[in-house]
Amino acid sequence: MKFEMLEPYHRWIWNCQSCSTCQKGPQNVFSPAGPTPDRICPSYDKYPRLTYSAQGRILAARAFLEGTLEVTDSFVASLYECTLCGSCGPERMGRSSCSVHRQQVPIFRALRTDLVKMGKAPTEPYKKVAASIEKSANRFGTAKAKRTQWLPEGMALPEKAETLYFPGCVATFKSPEIARSTAKLLNRGGVEFAVLGEEEWCCGNPLSASGQQDAFEPVVQHNVSAIMGTGANRVMTSCACCYNVLKFRYPEVAGDLDFEVVHTTEVLAGLIDEGKLKPEKSLSRTLTYQDPCHLTRVNAPEVSLFEEPRKVIQSIPGISFTEMEGNGMFTQCCGRNPYELPELSLHTGLNRIKDAQAAGADTLVTSCAFCNWSLGRAAKSLGTDMQVMDVTTLLIQAMGL
Ligand code: SF4
Ligand code: SF4
Repeated sequence: MKFEMLEPYHRWIWNCQSCSTCQKGPQNVFSPAGPTPDRICPSYDKYPRLTYSAQGRILAARAFLEGTLEVTDSFVASLYECTLCGSCGPERMGRSSCSVHRQQVPIFRALRTDLVKMGKAPTEPYKKVAASIEKSANRFGTAKAKRTQWLPEGMALPEKAETLYFPGCVATFKSPEIARSTAKLLNRGGVEFAVLGEEEWCCGNPLSASGQQDAFEPVVQHNVSAIMGTGANRVMTSCACCYNVLKFRYPEVAGDLDFEVVHTTEVLAGLIDEGKLKPEKSLSRTLTYQDPCHLTRVNAPEVSLFEEPRKVIQSIPGISFTEMEGNGMFTQCCGRNPYELPELSLHTGLNRIKDAQAAGADTLVTSCAFCNWSLGRAAKSLGTDMQVMDVTTLLIQAMGL
């Protein structure tokens, strides 16, 4: 068996000290400086077994490269019960949860890609998502014609504009209030924008994240060509996953992009700074904020969008803002994926709802349609009155729109 994608990481893999810090935090006097959260890894927190941690996956990767271990179905299952949240690895403000300061996510992505090429992966839910994308160009298998159903009534959009709004599958089909609110806010802020409508295909994140590179590449080519057709020089996303994949994975397939990729919170914070959006309605709430992993830690230092969402939230009169344990670079995953990882997503989401409660918040705000989905589902299952909202739907309330 050949592990072509994994092989270039062999030095990182061999460097693993089997110290277990990536499972439960520093455990001895020689451990790296940094916080000692009870749960560094959502996967290990849910399934406290070695192969459900970065350490176990890396030990297995080493054995695969050395040819001393066969790939089993149970290993593949454990490899995919990882949200790629990056909590196990990257250096975070000079501190790291890995003793040898390595990023583990690229290793997991490479291993997944190799296993897909060998026909041993992905897991069934990811195969189903790939089939849905192939058939309907979205992860839910919903009819393409429903792509524009979220558009606010009576809002006419140009076919070409400098800004292209890319709501993504979740804000389009699961939480259309996010896409609608975003469109209204752009409109109020005087930003002319276009959308791709039926030509918007899933960003391809579930394909890229699961190692289905052959299916991912045509999606990239389609979306890049459709975006170029609008003349946009800036693409704005509602979802941290779309943002991550468009900004960092697309250039790996399509080369340098002729457009910038930005997140909604960057644009909204700019409009507030310029005085083009003025939230004037007082909201009497105690809010906390879930930093999406892919807007903060996973792509740091290139991307670390901490200030923009906080600026939007704190511009609202009447609110009280409180931080949760595990914020910014130390954020903990929302659970990411209720569809492909239903149990892990719920377990991890519940942890975050409890963190928000411990912070004294009555409202948990996020800026990613996926986080909103995962956390909203967890709050519902807990029967709590904690309200989970996207920053755009919050701002709409404060604008009285
Ligand atoms: S990326 Fe997240 S879920 Fe995966 S091993 Fe690392 S900490 Fe655990
Ligand atoms: S913290 Fe780093 S060195 Fe320690 S077991 Fe995890 S991956 Fe290996």
